[in-house]
Amino acid sequence: MHDLSRLSLLPFSDRLIAWQRQYGRHDLPWQNTRDPYRIWLSEIMLQQTQVATVRGYYTRFLQRFPDVATLAAASLDDILASWAGLGYYARARNLHRCAQQVVDMHGGRFPTEPNALTALCGIGRSTAAAIAVFSNGRRAAILDGNVKRVLCRHRAIASFPGEKTVETALWALAESLLPEINIEAYTQGLMDLGATVCTRHRPGCASCPVVADCAAHALGRPTDFPVPRPVRARPERREYFVVLCAGDRVLLKRRPLRGVWGGLLAPPEGEPQIVLASLGAAGAITRPLPAIAHDFTHFRLHMQPVLADVSEYTLRPEHPPDWQWVDLASLETVASPAPVLRLLVALRPAANAAD
Ligand code: SF4
Repeated sequence: MHDLSRLSLLPFSDRLIAWQRQYGRHDLPWQNTRDPYRIWLSEIMLQQTQVATVRGYYTRFLQRFPDVATLAAASLDDILASWAGLGYYARARNLHRCAQQVVDMHGGRFPTEPNALTALCGIGRSTAAAIAVFSNGRRAAILDGNVKRVLCRHRAIASFPGEKTVETALWALAESLLPEINIEAYTQGLMDLGATVCTRHRPGCASCPVVADCAAHALGRPTDFPVPRPVRARPERREYFVVLCAGDRVLLKRRPLRGVWGGLLAPPEGEPQIVLASLGAAGAITRPLPAIAHDFTHFRLHMQPVLADVSEYTLRPEHPPDWQWVDLASLETVASPAPVLRLLVALRPAANAAD
């Protein structure tokens, strides 16, 4: 538990700054730099991934792509392969596009002003603010999911923060709380508080620097805030995925860049006999695998995988560069959607032997 008694009468921002200096995080791999490229990379990686996972990826990614020019010149395949396992691959595609924009529009110098940053692919208002704060000391407000949670609790805002009117009000609140100086420590403090103290399920109010005037704490029910997304019926889609196997190898197809799982490798979709006929393998023996459901933001996908043994056939795919034979033993190096990877890993001989 942190000793916070001396902080209780200070403004919100001053309490956070003092707390961050004493109790916050100071040695994450992306801290202690003013390089906007490194800060941007960490912000994008951290958007949907835990710090513990990002650490290793961040270091390896920087070794492979040390600056924005190298990233812009790389192939998307290389980038997706370095991203393999991090998930949410749209981030990797946007990263590539953004690096190219920085080279084309800014001569390879990463901008540090919020307006210039939000004009780039994949950089929203909060990410732009974080980059501007840490690279340039700009006085700008962040409002990611963790910060929304902290503010909703501190003011007991009993609404879903994804709603437009609520989000607008939260932006105004976030801006009103900004300090005149020490913006870096303040911003890092907000991030640290959301990640380590005011956590989703078990807020540590006794260690919180803003507990003295936290409305949700005063009500005795901090986890009731913020209010979850209203439940709406999610449309459902059903698709066959044809898993074409020959011995210990599987044939995957690159998905179109636009659309779900864009640019990633996955078994082809479609009516199995039509897919097989189109590849010159009509008559291959097939058997259904256990169905998998996967939730996207806007719909639920019911995948029905069908295993086809094509070892007796010489396949003739159209657009051969879009197709790739992959060893089941080296799936971890392949940029595939997580549910597809799980499906394919279960096909390994060792996995079946363990059953
Ligand atoms: S007092 Fe508790 S609920 Fe309120 S901001 Fe701090 S950790 Fe979150």
